[in-house]
Amino acid sequence: MKELFSPPPIVQNQAQRIHELFQKNVVPSYGRFELVLSHGEGSYVWDVNGRRYLDLGSGIGVCCLGHANPDITQALTEQSKKLVHVSNLYYSEPQGHLAQELVSLTGPGKVFFSNSGGEANEGLYKLARKFGHEEGRFEILTATNSFHGRTLAGISATGQEKVKKGFEPMVSGFRHIPYNDLEAVRKAISPATVAVLIECIQGESGINPATPEYLLGLRQLCNEKKLLLLLDEVQAGYFRTGAFASYQRLLENTPAGKDFMPDGISWAKAIGGGYAIGGFWIRAQYADLLSPGTHATTYGGSPLGCAVGLKVLEVIRRDRIQENVRQMGAYMKDRLAALATRFPTIVHEARGYGLMLGVQLAQNIPAFSKGEKPHAVQFVNALHNAGVLTVPAGTHVVRLLPSLNIKKSEADEGLQIIEQVVSSLA
Ligand SMILES: *Cc1c(COP(=O)(O)O)cnc(C)c1O
Repeated sequence: MKELFSPPPIVQNQAQRIHELFQKNVVPSYGRFELVLSHGEGSYVWDVNGRRYLDLGSGIGVCCLGHANPDITQALTEQSKKLVHVSNLYYSEPQGHLAQELVSLTGPGKVFFSNSGGEANEGLYKLARKFGHEEGRFEILTATNSFHGRTLAGISATGQEKVKKGFEPMVSGFRHIPYNDLEAVRKAISPATVAVLIECIQGESGINPATPEYLLGLRQLCNEKKLLLLLDEVQAGYFRTGAFASYQRLLENTPAGKDFMPDGISWAKAIGGGYAIGGFWIRAQYADLLSPGTHATTYGGSPLGCAVGLKVLEVIRRDRIQENVRQMGAYMKDRLAALATRFPTIVHEARGYGLMLGVQLAQNIPAFSKGEKPHAVQFVNALHNAGVLTVPAGTHVVRLLPSLNIKKSEADEGLQIIEQVVSSLA
């Protein structure tokens, strides 16, 4: 089937022409890298000049089964011949089945489908407000350095000043507390507090995991104070760490972790393997709070999105992708950690779980001291020049979020190039 797609013709000035189209016509809200990508296959993407890159970012953890995955293509084409979209005025089979799968992977409860992570989190905010409404409780505690999306409530929930700047006033009812600090949460709880929302591994701010004690302590505290415990699994969830949920991975060696269950979870990024679909799960006892007429989205849970979502889960099971995530993740983390030992003036630390890895750069890298851009961005650029795509996080962390089916040979190629770039900087 692949042979049917011939690569696009190579036109040398095409990249520049596309840059110009953007400058004239596209809202400049993104800080973009120069690359203009045209097509991909598996862990590789090609730019319009025909240059190949190993993609260790997979669209910020979205393309969990790689690019142009034939199973996804098949699910898209087959479902699109039946129904692409029907309104949520009606029932459709793929939505019911995908919800069933997600409930069985998570725990007793119900699922609502959205189209993005920010929107999935919006559903959790509304759930929390509905839950506390009769008692006049509405306040949601979130963590400093968190990231919850770019909607107005999303930037209000996000514990980073840079996303809020210029958009004040914020949506009221969000307060930020230091991450991994249970006492800070306890102290911050007011009579208006209704929920706590955290990422189990903070992604955008640089791959910072919660401790098991923090997660278990939050659960206990939320029980005690009658608060909902909400988890943003948009980036860390969905098998990224080698377990379906990142909290399952973080708690797997903690006996008390077996019974851990949040009250709400948001997902997006990987669900559709590249197709835009998100969703949130609500624990059984609260699952009917969002009663008919209280929440909706036109596209949510479309037959096409859900058919692709079902295919992604089928392939993850069929190809034992979870094992691959654990093996490749441990392998890559070890080799990246070895770079920190060999080149401590460049790499400070490698951390993360499964294929959600962060390389923390040294605070002052002489080769980057003249550049205006943060170290992370300069390092990512150096990797681009060497043929590897990664994603910056914060000022000093480079994220590796490869496709979950990355092969050993691809991991080796990426690690070798990263090592070359690191050693050239030392
Ligand atoms: C990406 C991300 C979001 C936002 O998702 P969108 O699909 O961009 O709206 C929210 N939370 C976390 C943790 C994310 O990584």
